Amino acid sequence: MSAVPANLRLANQTALLGQLLGRKAASRAELAKATGMSKPTTGKIIDDLMHAGVVEEIKLMDGGRPSVGRPGKQLRLATNRPRFVVVDLGVEMTRVSGLPASPPELERWEVTFKTPTSADAWQEKVAQSAEKIQVRRPWAVMVSTPGVVDERAGRVLLSPNLHWSEHADLPWILRQVWSAPVGLVQEVRALALGELGARPDGDDFMVVDISDGVGGALMLGGRIYQGALPMSGEIGHTPIPGNNRLCGCGGRGCLETLASQRGLIQSLREAKGHGTTFADVVKAAERELPQWMKDTFDAIATCVSAALNLYGVRRVVMVGRIAELPAPATDYLIGVIQRASMWSRFDAVAVTLAPKRVSRGLVIAGIHRFVMPADWSVKH
Ligand SMILES: [Zn+2]
Repeated sequence: MSAVPANLRLANQTALLGQLLGRKAASRAELAKATGMSKPTTGKIIDDLMHAGVVEEIKLMDGGRPSVGRPGKQLRLATNRPRFVVVDLGVEMTRVSGLPASPPELERWEVTFKTPTSADAWQEKVAQSAEKIQVRRPWAVMVSTPGVVDERAGRVLLSPNLHWSEHADLPWILRQVWSAPVGLVQEVRALALGELGARPDGDDFMVVDISDGVGGALMLGGRIYQGALPMSGEIGHTPIPGNNRLCGCGGRGCLETLASQRGLIQSLREAKGHGTTFADVVKAAERELPQWMKDTFDAIATCVSAALNLYGVRRVVMVGRIAELPAPATDYLIGVIQRASMWSRFDAVAVTLAPKRVSRGLVIAGIHRFVMPADWSVKH
């Protein structure tokens, strides 16, 4: 039996994983120093992680000779073979890959297909993908899915743009293809996890995804925030005064109806009488920003800054379509979010644009959910 309480052990594992995610490789001594843990504690957790196949040792050659003893050995998240099947169930496309414990920096997908309109057709396509990626016994199958997702129950509660997923038993479907546990991850939460270790600082942050929909997720103390309800971060469904548009959630006036890709195109068309694609929105933002776009960005800033003020977070990572807009638009948006956040009266509020890191986020979710807490607290 371990003398260390399970929750402390989990916190220690999380800290170590955080270090390994942010570094290419590190020695045991470096990891102990960086996490503030004792060398024996670090060594014990590393041994467990190595035994589980999460971490691997790289034997460095020192002047042509293999180095002797532990201090010279470097550790990293295992790259040797695919351990997870990751699936990105998108409104337009579904992507599938087999990935090792070491999550990729950049998106990596082996199979991509157009998302069908029924669960049966999707299952068939996924089964075909399994033939191609050849991961025999994955630790887990991790799925990113849009909408309101009850991750604990493995169910999609609401998905305005992918209605069939609400009635489909996604974990059951995937278990017909791979005999492994299945983890559903709400898509914006997957993106937030993908940011872990992708930047040098380890601050708390909020991810805001503005794409087909508008959503957010909070990373606090290296863990993703989860409230009591199977729903959080839904800033896209905050009603905006003066907005009367109907939303896919059943509400009226939601931020999403203005700020999503479709909402932006609609506003352009209402203002100009033309414009049918996102490229037209990009064009409209190239010089002087139109008033409707400023109003929309002000509404985004109100919702995002409310979340920052509420949780005491000073970093925002913006991903999705919004990151594809030209500088006059993104500069305006970043500026209004910073000014609207109360922390800007005291110190800097950082708002950055980033690419989507779905596959990275899914691997990290898989480690958090299925590998890390695994009954180590009661072993030994
Ligand atoms: Zn809504």
